[in-house]
Amino acid sequence: MARGFKLKLGAGAYGSVFKGNLCSGPSVAIKMLSESKGKGQDFINEVATIGRIHHLNVVQLIGFCVEGSKRAIVYEFMPNGSLDKIIFSKEGSISINYKRIFEISVGIARGIAYLHHGCEMKILHFDIKPHNILLDENLTPKISDFGLAKLYPVENSIITMTKERGTNGYMAPELSYNNIGGVSYKADVYSFGMLLMEMIYCPHWIYDQLGKEQEIEIDVTKEDMEIVKKMIIVSLWCIQWKPDDRPAMNKVVEMLEGDIESLNMPPKPIIFPHETIAENQRNN
Ligand code: ATP
Ligand code: MG
Repeated sequence: MARGFKLKLGAGAYGSVFKGNLCSGPSVAIKMLSESKGKGQDFINEVATIGRIHHLNVVQLIGFCVEGSKRAIVYEFMPNGSLDKIIFSKEGSISINYKRIFEISVGIARGIAYLHHGCEMKILHFDIKPHNILLDENLTPKISDFGLAKLYPVENSIITMTKERGTNGYMAPELSYNNIGGVSYKADVYSFGMLLMEMIYCPHWIYDQLGKEQEIEIDVTKEDMEIVKKMIIVSLWCIQWKPDDRPAMNKVVEMLEGDIESLNMPPKPIIFPHETIAENQRNN
């Protein structure tokens, strides 16, 4: 399938990804899991979660291979790579317009809402970030990488975590501090909020603007400004410190798709409340 693994698409914490072709024609991405990671729970998680779901905004699992100590997962191929390549593009300018960025963000929100509320099990991803959002030929976003995902019966709202999960920068505070609320699907909502924020303010673009020693100005039309404003309000709701203050993902989809006038202003974000840290230290 992989023609001798000549075409490497990239590598991550779990192994390398190669391009291949099925005998019937379609291109595929083959993730070869590194030996240490591949044998255990991550491989089972990935196959067990995405193997059983179908959604426009979730990457499709085509199959898997187990041969001796080798483990491989085969996915549909995504010609436009991952979202980080667009929002962290070194060129500084985003090659797609705000309308497109907005459409991508709605697609991601729909995908996560489906995982949380649309399947017979609640699927919590725990690693939502730009690198794990793939884009197909039409720039339709697909959520990928279910290695950290967990499945829960729908009625289970608070879950127990044994170790820290996810990626710094996108990880919800309740995963690090034990006094703000239990870990739930709201952790994915937080990660989505951080992702949304980055989609609006591409860090490279901001940096280049600073380098030019000019005022940071967003050069957009009135229509674009409305989209941007909506994304900012929704992202601020999603990154609320307390999980209870964050909306559920189906509400997030509604907020993004609805009128900007119907959105309430979120409470002012607290990034690192001192009381929380002090109290957390006492509790530990
Ligand atoms: P992490 O290990 O934290 O998830 P990562 O997402 O960069 O990091 P991988 O998921 O192993 O690592 O993916 C490596 C690269 O392969 C990604 O950067 C992505 O661009 C590419 N890739 C992964 N899956 C596909 C796919 N289905 N189609 C096309 N490219 C893919
Ligand atoms: Mg990945």
